[in-house]
Amino acid sequence: MQQSTLDPRRYQLKRDALRAVLQGHPWVFRGSLSSAAGVFRDGQWLRLYDGQNQIVGYGIYEAEGAVGIRLVRRGDRPPDAAWLEKQVLGALERRADLRKTTSAWRALHGENDLVPGVNFDVYGQVGVLQTYSRGTDVLGRWAAGVAARLLGLEAVLWRMPTRRAGSTREVRTLRGEVPAEVAVREAGLTYHVDPLGGQKGGFYLDLRGLRRWVLERPLAGLRVLNLFSNTCTLGLAAETAGAFEVWNVDSSEAALAFGEKHHTRRPGVQRFVEADAFHYGERLLPGEKFDLIVCDPPSMTGHSDQVPVALARYQRTYSHLRDHVAEGGVLVAACCTSRIPRQKFRETVSGVLKNWEVIADIGPEPDHPVRFPEADYLKIYAFRR
Ligand code: SAH
Repeated sequence: MQQSTLDPRRYQLKRDALRAVLQGHPWVFRGSLSSAAGVFRDGQWLRLYDGQNQIVGYGIYEAEGAVGIRLVRRGDRPPDAAWLEKQVLGALERRADLRKTTSAWRALHGENDLVPGVNFDVYGQVGVLQTYSRGTDVLGRWAAGVAARLLGLEAVLWRMPTRRAGSTREVRTLRGEVPAEVAVREAGLTYHVDPLGGQKGGFYLDLRGLRRWVLERPLAGLRVLNLFSNTCTLGLAAETAGAFEVWNVDSSEAALAFGEKHHTRRPGVQRFVEADAFHYGERLLPGEKFDLIVCDPPSMTGHSDQVPVALARYQRTYSHLRDHVAEGGVLVAACCTSRIPRQKFRETVSGVLKNWEVIADIGPEPDHPVRFPEADYLKIYAFRR
């Protein structure tokens, strides 16, 4: 990174912020900032000091949101090219085993891989960069360049952060030509990814463990309901596991069409239903039963004050789905927001599915490491009736 970009300003951390940083937390929350931070512009690089005028690290200031400063490098040395290369190499090494099993994986998972605010996904020869704030754009492009070079990628796409609520994600090609569709291998299956228009980086990499779990279930002759299906990758896993019928439900026509085109094997097994999946249970006929229901709604909690509404929605949705699970059948409940803690989510669903046994707790995949509490966003439990 050029020195001009870095040009860090000096900032002395308040005591509680310093404590959090010294304990290894990668963020300083806005509430822990002193009024002196008010002069910084969004994305300003900072050299952070303790009360004794010692440098404790380098970070990036964010003007909006709950996170005030993202720690980039600890200690008194500024982030430089050698430092970044080391972070990227370390992240690639930690995924060495995973990379033998799939061509779709997350190379950099933000703070958890010590490259804050930056996600970098790999689909075969294509890399997709996502940055989560203006401040991390520079770091992200820099890291993507290093990763692309080390991996010899042909094309790199940058999906920029949404700056304002409601604005669409901007997309920019950083290297080569990004194809509209990429075929990837995972657990012996071929999935398709839409890096330009698909949700997230084009594919829900974090659901790999759930796809594997579904693929390994004895589903021969059974019926599956896949709610919030997106491009129906779980539908393909269920069909491959022998399911007799799979219904995919999503509100996105484009995602369903993509799924119908790419993620089916035998004609007639899978259905594609454009509907509000939160209310789908209420629309089912009373005697309609499924042996497996997967329910994977969006996070619903852009702000913490939305948590009660999200919890109420879970309760309502699961109370309507409960009766449509066949005796001995399974309901998979997923929650993808760290604003709802693990235990709270499990209790909420358990409270509706009284006395159902939790038969699986599908943890994060190795390319989605969890290094601090706020990074623990994805919870997946399978309950048996
Ligand atoms: N399970 C999916 C990922 C789900 S992401 C997978 O295996 O890839 C959440 C999905 O919910 C998105 O596809 C989004 O289009 C869909 N969605 C959001 N609100 C919805 C609603 N009210 N009804 C149905 N689908 C909805």
